[in-house]
Amino acid sequence: MTTPREELEVLREWQSRLRAHFPIITDHPELAYLDSAATAQKPQAVLDAAWTYLTTTNANAGRATYPWANRTTQLVEEARERIKEFLHDPAPERSSTHFTSGTTEALRAIAFDWLPAHLTDGDEIVVPLADHQANITPWLEARRLLTDRGVRVRVVEMPYQAGSGDYDHRALAALAGPRTRFVAVTHVHHVYGGDMNIHRIRQAVGPEAVICLDAAQSIGHLPVSVADLDVDFVAFSGHKALALPGSGAVWARQARGPVFRPGGWSGTPNTVGIVSLVAALDWLDAAGTDRIERWTVALAARLTDGLRQLDAYQVLGCQTSLAADSDVQRRLGTVAFRHREITSGDLGFILFSHGFMVRSDSHCQGSAGEKTGSVRVSLHVHNTPAEIDRLLSALATLQ
Ligand code: PMP
Repeated sequence: MTTPREELEVLREWQSRLRAHFPIITDHPELAYLDSAATAQKPQAVLDAAWTYLTTTNANAGRATYPWANRTTQLVEEARERIKEFLHDPAPERSSTHFTSGTTEALRAIAFDWLPAHLTDGDEIVVPLADHQANITPWLEARRLLTDRGVRVRVVEMPYQAGSGDYDHRALAALAGPRTRFVAVTHVHHVYGGDMNIHRIRQAVGPEAVICLDAAQSIGHLPVSVADLDVDFVAFSGHKALALPGSGAVWARQARGPVFRPGGWSGTPNTVGIVSLVAALDWLDAAGTDRIERWTVALAARLTDGLRQLDAYQVLGCQTSLAADSDVQRRLGTVAFRHREITSGDLGFILFSHGFMVRSDSHCQGSAGEKTGSVRVSLHVHNTPAEIDRLLSALATLQ
């Protein structure tokens, strides 16, 4: 198996070419942006696509019939197909794409427009209470709504492995039964950074349960194949996948039930956001999400290994694993840690004084999550081994 050091060496030239695509990064060599899990920086191609659309074609979609309006309608429809292609959808004629402002709205759309119509008295839903709040509250609210209508739905708490942040697939298999209808999962955890091994979730819950994937931290970070993962819904945010804020989507498979059709009038779509999303997906495919994955996994390993040499710090979640199919999978560029004495809030300020932009708080984790805050470093393709080494040196001075 290649070591992280070898991986970074092999991909070095490829990466330095791509780093040059991010103007905000190259314009600020004194800073290191280490908060891509909150929102990602945009490559020039995405900025150009938005500018070109707004200066040549801007109109509303699905309404008028003059050329700019027709072209906008066409761009929005093409974007639906582009998303399916990006997700390696094997049967695009049997899936649908619904645009939202991001993952939060996407999950809420599934929770309120789809879920209530598909659950009956006595059904169970699995909710991951140590994941992002966006992937918890909609399911609990939908359950309350159903209770008010006299439909009792049981919430099963997703079990987690102690210490790793990954789901406990064996415990889940024991909890799941014939009434387990819907399972909410996250692809890449926003605090622990682990790939949550969705294959094992499918094995644990069986072929009939609907699996809804929160892909906020995986789209743009690794290849995502709905066929391979065998999931029924995918929700994601454009802004974390290099596109403009306010662009996101739900992809829905129709195989296990009626099409996902959001209720009511959905209004004007975020046309420029959707155009930017297509440009971002094109950029990501050209860059190669497999190589982005290898790069950020190797950078995260370099940081994790470096932190383990520094006694003052505790890394959250999985400590090492880089194996492709170990119980805990690779850490996809996100590493959260604490200093044993300095609060994470203070550490965030100190790190910015050295030019590092990190997130430091409890990261919107649900009720079963960490009880105290941490500093989160989250990486993307523009980050470099030199930035990680500088960060580790700065952290070492605080020992
Ligand atoms: N799920 C996960 C795993 C996330 O990391 C985030 C954003 N931090 C969200 C959902 C919510 O995404 P958004 O704010 O773009 O709606």
